[in-house]
Amino acid sequence: MPPYHGSCHCGAVRFTVESEIAEGYTCDCSLCRKKNALMANVHESKLTITVGEEKLGLYQWNARIAKHYFCTVCGIYPFHKKRSMPDHYGVNLNTLDDFDPKSVPVRAADGKDMPIVDSNARGIWPGPRVR
Ligand SMILES: [Zn+2]
Repeated sequence: MPPYHGSCHCGAVRFTVESEIAEGYTCDCSLCRKKNALMANVHESKLTITVGEEKLGLYQWNARIAKHYFCTVCGIYPFHKKRSMPDHYGVNLNTLDDFDPKSVPVRAADGKDMPIVDSNARGIWPGPRVR
């Protein structure tokens, strides 16, 4: 039952999630594939960073809409602001300390077919390009 408590590995970043988590999803975009993350969508009003907001680094690429956060101390990815739903976070379920990621069904999201809008994006990206 929420609230769930999340943290990075070193504990510099801590946050709470105040919503039910009914499913997790994986994503096959070139970034999520390398992160190997299991995520859940959480509305921005339901996630509170309680410790270490200043320790978060920001990675952006391609359309530069999504905000991919990581702990600048230990490198762990706790959550990101989504491109497809900008008022939602994708939360890394494996960073929730009191939630069992195996307790929910997992859906495979189609990330590699989201269009590339940046002609300088890395060539490893397998998805379609927008000219
Ligand atoms: Zn950390």
